[in-house]
Amino acid sequence: MKALCWYGTKDVRIEDVPEPRILNPRDAILRITSTAICGSDLHLYNGVFKGMKKGDILGHEFMGEVVAVGSGVKNLREGDRVVVPFHISCGGCFFCRMGEWSACDNSNPNMVEAETLLGQPVPGMFGYTHLTGGYAGGQAEMVRVPFADVGPLKVPADLPDEKVLFLSDILPTGWFGAENCSVRPGDTVAVWGAGPVGLLAMQSLRVMGAERIIAIDTIPERLELARRTAGAEPLDYEKHDVYEALMEITGGRGPDACLDAVGMEAHGTGFLDKVDAVKQRLMIENDRPAVLRQMIRCCRKTGTISLLGVYSGFIDTFPMGIAFNKGLKFRMGQTPVHRYREPLLQMVAEGKLQPDAVISHRVALDDAPDAYAIFEKKEASCTKVVLKPGPRPTINVRSASRSVSTA
Ligand code: NAD
Ligand code: ZN
Repeated sequence: MKALCWYGTKDVRIEDVPEPRILNPRDAILRITSTAICGSDLHLYNGVFKGMKKGDILGHEFMGEVVAVGSGVKNLREGDRVVVPFHISCGGCFFCRMGEWSACDNSNPNMVEAETLLGQPVPGMFGYTHLTGGYAGGQAEMVRVPFADVGPLKVPADLPDEKVLFLSDILPTGWFGAENCSVRPGDTVAVWGAGPVGLLAMQSLRVMGAERIIAIDTIPERLELARRTAGAEPLDYEKHDVYEALMEITGGRGPDACLDAVGMEAHGTGFLDKVDAVKQRLMIENDRPAVLRQMIRCCRKTGTISLLGVYSGFIDTFPMGIAFNKGLKFRMGQTPVHRYREPLLQMVAEGKLQPDAVISHRVALDDAPDAYAIFEKKEASCTKVVLKPGPRPTINVRSASRSVSTA
């Protein structure tokens, strides 16, 4: 079968690889119908998140049709159409039982390595380094899904793939980040990053009743999407002093909550930001905390900092004293997808949330290497790419000029 494999920084290739097989009774095999590229994949593509090996199959946002189930999977059968969470959860451990699905203790076969580095093991994830189990991802024609009696969610036939695909990750993630802002009537929330994750966090904040949502980015079409799909007020961080602008908007108090949908590859124009960029390149600092520092400065006293953007390790210049003296609350983590997906599926069906509004490109799996390059550079108005396994040419229903060339 065909799969998108990682070979190094900015080097991903479509390869012929062996088809997956049932290895455990609780496995299922899916034929992928739609899969997406995530901002998290870019951290691997750019080589800043370590732990990939040459030939690893990428992809953790996918859905498809069940083509085989192990003897222990009683709730699925061949032909079922399902969407699968990006993290793998056993359903029976201490953490899964209390709803902290993204802290599962049983799904990472490389737990010793993870435990040594982090103190405790992180769960398994699809297509996301050997630190999270080295599982093959879903940017492929087929994928093996472990703990398939727990992960896959059956989706109704009347909802097209594009409406339900993001239940695998970015829709629950946006919701989780918004929920962590503990929105109260009248609140102003500033969201850094108007990529797919930030945009879905903004839609969620709107549903939760935030009064003002400030979308901070510098890419015009993303800021425009934030305005159009979530009623957010755009703030271009390259054209304005973000602190000054937020103080003006909030009468000098600062936003009630600040949400980071950027993470470890944040761009920044200040001196410290430039130092961080050099240190990250030299591998003496893991993450670039430009957004984190800005949020701590801007957030109102006793406000909430909600982190969705992924961080991987150590940060040198974290203003802990400022956060402490302002009494800020920090909420963060990998999203426990299983906790949110049923209520979110309901909201999508009712039209309260429009996850497909973030899609700009629909391309063949064969064109994934080009699509990664375009998404990474934010070219061609690219906000979110959906990959379709199967023969070229692909259909781009939005507009021809926004599709990756398939010639
Ligand atoms: P993306 O790369 O498409 O979007 C990031 C956006 O941040 C871009 O639009 C970029 O212009 C903007 N940006 C960069 N520097 C900025 C700054 N200083 N101020 C404001 N905006 C800035 O990525 P995405 O798919 O939207 O993902 C965003 C983050 O969410 C990534 O770090 C990803 O790994 C993470 N993520 C986390 C989870 C989770 O479970 N917590 C799940 C999915 C994705
Ligand atoms: Zn993702």
